[in-house]
Amino acid sequence: MRLYCHEDRFLVWQVRDLLVSRGIPCFVKNEYAIGAMGDLSPFDCWPEVWITDDEWMPKAKQLLDEWQSQLQQGSAWYCRHCGEENGSGFELCWQCDTERPDDLR
Ligand SMILES: [Zn+2]
Repeated sequence: MRLYCHEDRFLVWQVRDLLVSRGIPCFVKNEYAIGAMGDLSPFDCWPEVWITDDEWMPKAKQLLDEWQSQLQQGSAWYCRHCGEENGSGFELCWQCDTERPDDLR
């Protein structure tokens, strides 16, 4: 059963390492598929984390939720220009388009 997918391989492997560290059996699919499958949309080629045994799914989802909220808290940043709070995924302030300062990465 698929737990997680993301275009960023690094994040996918972080999830996989987290699960392995808690003893949850899992594996990564599509790791090398990006750009290799012309007929599929990019979304279909994203690396995925799969749980080997569905019994672990609730526990795995809980860990994933915790991890994602930590990720967001850890890297939210405040725009120097307008003071707006921006989520970790934004490289530009969504309010005024000011670039994220290097020291806030
Ligand atoms: Zn701003």
